[in-house]
Amino acid sequence: IANWDIQSIRRDFPALQQMINGRPLIWLDNAATTHKPQCVITAVSDFYAKDNSNVHRGAHTLAKRATDAYEGAREKIRRFIGADSAEEIIFVRGATEAINLVAQSYGRMVVRPGDEIILSNLEHHANIVPWQQLCEEKGALLKVIPLNDCGEIILDEYAKLLSSKTRLVAISHVSNSLGTVVPIKVMIDMAHTLGVPVLVDGAQGIPHFKVDVSNLNADFYAFSGHKMFGPTGLGVLYAKKSLLESMPPWQGGGNMIKTVTFEHTTYNSLPNKFEAGTGHIAGAVGLGAAADYLTRLGSKPIEIYEQKLMVYGCNALSTIPRLRQVGTAAQKAGVLSFVIPGVSSEGLAEYLDRQGIAVRVGHHCAQPSLRHFGLDSTIRPSLALYNTFAEIDQLVLAVEKFLYNGGLKNG
Ligand code: PMP
Repeated sequence: IANWDIQSIRRDFPALQQMINGRPLIWLDNAATTHKPQCVITAVSDFYAKDNSNVHRGAHTLAKRATDAYEGAREKIRRFIGADSAEEIIFVRGATEAINLVAQSYGRMVVRPGDEIILSNLEHHANIVPWQQLCEEKGALLKVIPLNDCGEIILDEYAKLLSSKTRLVAISHVSNSLGTVVPIKVMIDMAHTLGVPVLVDGAQGIPHFKVDVSNLNADFYAFSGHKMFGPTGLGVLYAKKSLLESMPPWQGGGNMIKTVTFEHTTYNSLPNKFEAGTGHIAGAVGLGAAADYLTRLGSKPIEIYEQKLMVYGCNALSTIPRLRQVGTAAQKAGVLSFVIPGVSSEGLAEYLDRQGIAVRVGHHCAQPSLRHFGLDSTIRPSLALYNTFAEIDQLVLAVEKFLYNGGLKNG
């Protein structure tokens, strides 16, 4: 890949420069959260050091600077995901809050007893529980698209579930437990032939490849800043303007109103209608800087490099005796999940940490997807644009050492 200087990219991330237990940190827990480049850290600290103010509400210099920074960040995100208007970018706490907002505003508005909401068996709990709560409240039903043995969605089964009872399809772009890339464009087109809107949980999509919400024709697209090199506590709900205009506000408070009397309140225009209270202004500024950073690197080089890492990682893991990779979809991004029968996953993860290698072990907040494979836990190394082939070699070597030194007996 032209101009892809991995060592220079790694130097952008201060957290990657540290030693853990006497070894250089190997961060393979990117699906949980990513580290932050210096430009993001600087944008956040500069905001607090120079521009700090509440937004919209003051007629003074810092209020103007803070408002410009906040709205400038919104515009950067709009451009980054190809939305038509900055009014379609709602700042929230993260993907979880974005999905809850849609369930409780749009969902409560349109769902009636006997209606159906379609999910897949790949979903993160954040894209299950809010719909379950809504269905319980409304007497509606969840319909779940099954997976094949590779952890891919079975599109024929999806087609069978879509009906005149379907009010919404809510589906992840990339599975956080298996790494499956879901063919969401096809699935959105299928839903739209019946006039059904689609929410995409893009938490694991956006860090790995170009997402263009207009091209996808997604109705809702939810993601978290901290998984795309931005700060925690700040995420985005993209939604089509016509939908946002039709939806009632979710939370009430300052900023989301036009006028308030004790008899009646009128609501602010978009996007403020959905942003009650003081938002995470510095977080938005940081996320804007993260979007700039990713734009500078280029989404295509990121995708190509990460695909090479993914193929290399799958092949390298497959050389380890008895290791079973979980989720072998033809299209994968970011996530490698595995178990070794007879080996304690927790024991292995602790051993890896002693070698400075950070991976996640557990159900990854996606229990149904692991149950499909008869499992309740896997080891999940997950990749980002700053990982290297050498780090994957180190991981494989460490797993082999653990097995060689009697790790099997720990099982
Ligand atoms: N959806 C998916 C696919 C995820 O991976 C995650 C985070 N693990 C979430 C939703 C929730 O994101 P957050 O905790 O940042 O709200």
